[in-house]
Amino acid sequence: MRFHVMTLFPEMFDVMHTSVIGRAMERGLIALRTYQIRDFSDDAKHHKVDDYTYGGGAGMLMRAQPVYDCYRHVVEGIQGCEPPASAGGRSANDISAKLRTVYLTPQGIPFTQEMARGLARAEDVVLLCGHYEGVDERVLEEIEAERISIGDYVLSGGELPAMVLIDAVARLVPGVLSNEESAQTESFDDGLLEYPQYTRPEVWRDRRVPEILLSGDHAKVDAWRKEQAVARTREMRPDLLAGCVPPMANAEGCEPPASALDVSSSLYCAGHSAEPVVSAPWHTSREEEIMQSPGAADKRERLSATELDDTSRYFHVGAVAGTHALKGEMRVFPTTDDPERFTEGLVLYARKANAKASDRKKDGGGADALRTLTVESARVHGKFVLVKCKEVNSVEDAEALKGTELYVSREDAIPLEEGEYFVVDLIGLSMRDEEGKELGTLKDVISAPANDVYVMEHKETGKEILLPAIKQCILNVDMEQRVMTVHLLDGLLDVY
Ligand code: SAM
Repeated sequence: MRFHVMTLFPEMFDVMHTSVIGRAMERGLIALRTYQIRDFSDDAKHHKVDDYTYGGGAGMLMRAQPVYDCYRHVVEGIQGCEPPASAGGRSANDISAKLRTVYLTPQGIPFTQEMARGLARAEDVVLLCGHYEGVDERVLEEIEAERISIGDYVLSGGELPAMVLIDAVARLVPGVLSNEESAQTESFDDGLLEYPQYTRPEVWRDRRVPEILLSGDHAKVDAWRKEQAVARTREMRPDLLAGCVPPMANAEGCEPPASALDVSSSLYCAGHSAEPVVSAPWHTSREEEIMQSPGAADKRERLSATELDDTSRYFHVGAVAGTHALKGEMRVFPTTDDPERFTEGLVLYARKANAKASDRKKDGGGADALRTLTVESARVHGKFVLVKCKEVNSVEDAEALKGTELYVSREDAIPLEEGEYFVVDLIGLSMRDEEGKELGTLKDVISAPANDVYVMEHKETGKEILLPAIKQCILNVDMEQRVMTVHLLDGLLDVY
């Protein structure tokens, strides 16, 4: 994989030639090329790359022209390159699938491990480092750069953020890490922080390594680690368990879906209407069973905005974050785990996110609060899906929908596989141990990428106990009896 960095300070990247990333470069697993944006300035005399901002105000801005010409040079170079594995030149289509262009900016989507994993699948990643007050907006639109931030603080330039991104992505490229450095079970891999770890000696300053780690029972060790990871995440980063709130929807100027926030728990926001994460065998789905209701088409026309509050019948699939092109394409942040589900003909209900539930009730969820849209075409674009609907034909139409939440009715839900359950059906199940003793009630299900996490309200203490939805912990689900049989590892209740 190749990183192409457009920068005013190429020398800053010399530091990348050390340690893990340096070794990976030496071994040809990754390549890092820097491009001096100044070399592309049309100002032959001073190679000027910045200018004053229109509208006044302090500070200079990077001009569009040098950035654009530099970018064209980089992309033409990539097109001319041999693809790493296959023979022959590369078509524009090949390129777009394998090329990612990123502008590092504090206004971007906060960088995560998941985003690093996505970038690691590209062949070429072009990184634009801003400076001064940033970069002329028009060139960012022209090159369709994804915007990524490394955190909510402002640095002087995009070089350090680019290096952070390169490091995080490069170490995911196969072969870059040795076995000892392997990134198989690190924090964020499964949406959780890593479990506590210990090395020799067994006892240090009277502190013993947990007995279970010395037992040699791998299944028990795995289950213990999973439980510890859940408990640690709950303590240190409860926000990670808030699987369904789209932070980038916020970053793009639209509110998080109201459904994601309308949850009473202070710890996390697991909206029951979001679509599922697939993680066999204890996968739970947030979609209801498909129930064919006669006259469904008529009903769609008469639907009122308040009906969308019925989270067992309508499922939140996304939020409109902005417009994309002149013909009315919308940039949708998907809250479904299958962004490909926006297929032609799909009926979407768009409801204003900022309409308060009480207002919707007052006016019966009037027509202006709700629009019914039919998907004409859709394509995944980075973290977003670009959706074109039959009823939206201009950038103004699309703009008017900015900030709306998108729902589908359960008749359009993704069908369940065997062994999958709907969250709405699971909530309230009686949770029992192997002897049939009632422990509590299933109160919620949190979606984490590797496996769901079940929240049990403990019958005696009223505390919330988090159980990873893995075979070792969840022994059986009997929907008829409404009983879930679970195994609590020794000492789990003491963690809470
Ligand atoms: N005026 C910009 C703003 O308020 O959003 C900040 C410009 S900053 C001083 C200069 C450059 O540093 C940006 O163009 C960007 O490339 C980079 N930068 C600063 N903070 C960053 C962050 N948290 N993440 C990614 N890039 C950042």
